[in-house]
Amino acid sequence: MNSDEHEERGEAGGGGDGRPATELSAREIAAAVRGGSRSARAVLEDHLEQVDALEPELRAFLRRPSALARSRAQALDDARARGETLGPLAGVPIALKDIFVTRGVETTCGSRILAGWVPPYDGAHAERLERAGAVLFGKLTMDEFAMGSSNENTPFEPPRNPWALDRVPGGSSGGSAVAVAARMAAASLGTDTGGSIRQPAGFCGVVGLKPTYGRVPRFGMIAFASSLDQAGPLTRDVRDAARVLQCLAGHDPRDASSLRDPVPDLEVACERGADGLRVGVPRAMIEQPGLDPAVRDAFERSLAALERAGAERVDVALPHARYAVACYYVLSPAEAASNLARYDGVRYGLRVERATLRETYEATRDAGFGAEVKRRILLGTFVLRADSYDRYYGRAMRVRTLIARDYEAAFASCDVIATPTSPTPAFPLGQNAGDPLAMYLSDVFTIGANLAGLPAISIPGGLAPATADAPPLPIGFQLLGPRLGEPTLLAAAAAHEAETGWHAQRPPLLGGLTRGALS
Ligand code: GLN
Repeated sequence: MNSDEHEERGEAGGGGDGRPATELSAREIAAAVRGGSRSARAVLEDHLEQVDALEPELRAFLRRPSALARSRAQALDDARARGETLGPLAGVPIALKDIFVTRGVETTCGSRILAGWVPPYDGAHAERLERAGAVLFGKLTMDEFAMGSSNENTPFEPPRNPWALDRVPGGSSGGSAVAVAARMAAASLGTDTGGSIRQPAGFCGVVGLKPTYGRVPRFGMIAFASSLDQAGPLTRDVRDAARVLQCLAGHDPRDASSLRDPVPDLEVACERGADGLRVGVPRAMIEQPGLDPAVRDAFERSLAALERAGAERVDVALPHARYAVACYYVLSPAEAASNLARYDGVRYGLRVERATLRETYEATRDAGFGAEVKRRILLGTFVLRADSYDRYYGRAMRVRTLIARDYEAAFASCDVIATPTSPTPAFPLGQNAGDPLAMYLSDVFTIGANLAGLPAISIPGGLAPATADAPPLPIGFQLLGPRLGEPTLLAAAAAHEAETGWHAQRPPLLGGLTRGALS
């Protein structure tokens, strides 16, 4: 899409109305900066102030390269003053999960083992966002090597959920969800191997989009499980997610698995509405013992909203879905064990020097990796042993195929599939920290999309009513689409958003301002 089309979509305005820039959508910021009613510098300063005010409580950021960001914002303002046309994310302050490689800015993947690694290059993500005019101003906290569902697998202070400071924000892209929910960043990037964009987006009441596998290149995204990993945006509304994905998507010759398929206009797709869309509901998969009644109620309200928007509900079956978590915990540790073999104290980050090379490897990996990462390396190494390979890895690969076929069959009778994003709202810090299995189960609804390589989005699905020990907490509503089905997915998500307005609900921490979308 060329830059002038954005102006034609009625984005002028959004700028000079006196709201702090932290209250604007990414599209409103870009329109204001491109049109000159706000400077990129001023927009950035508003966000840096918000970070200063809230970060002591929330702990979303690992690093804040503010000086670099200020000079970047200034360069955009200078370019505009020279008459240059700015890109579709002009002046939009975006922060990245620390899994994304950034030139000149330390990148640790949330691990001690990469402490001090300052990459000499940008990954595709930083490169593409900057080309679109974004101002990258922070690296966000995450579960170490993206392994986790609560962001508690961190050698640093775990972040807090802005809706309830004693609750987790979800993980592994916890910082990415917190920064957007708390208006510290207009948008962020996360990565999703088994749910790590969608689950924290759901827990924090924002939009999180995992694209089709290969839509966004993986070059410059530190690998966890390469056949499942996919980068995507977290934003406060669906159209912002479409805009950011548009800037990220498309082939990159540096990633052999990145797709060559053309990327359609995703913002246009958001205008389609839900009229006539068939929404598949896999009842048997959703109705399970761990499902919180508040999540079930919210899910029904979301389905009803889609129906009011013209969609039709159909039953679908995903008979192998119940094996997804088990399958994922064979395949992802196997890939992780291979990918993480490169951290040996020789090439990157931490080195614990010992008398021999082998002892140096061992001491470095022992000191550098946390408990969950070690658990996954052990598990992965075990399932790949010659004498257990076929029993575990080979079998899990076959189950993966069955799961993918289930989705293919289901999409013969529906356009999108709906489930809750997670079985419960955000849980208290510490509640599942000592119980890896309970933690793993929080991804029952999200993992299938990764195993099958499908696009999926979590959007705000209303609030769970307050209880004796929790204030109202956000609940995520998940939609999955067929391969390359982002346009339909976004159409359904945007229609749900327009029907409910739930994306405009704000964490009480921020006070009562309403966003432009509602005013
Ligand atoms: N929670 C899942 C895990 O711990 C998924 C993580 C992810 O998507 N990166 O592996």
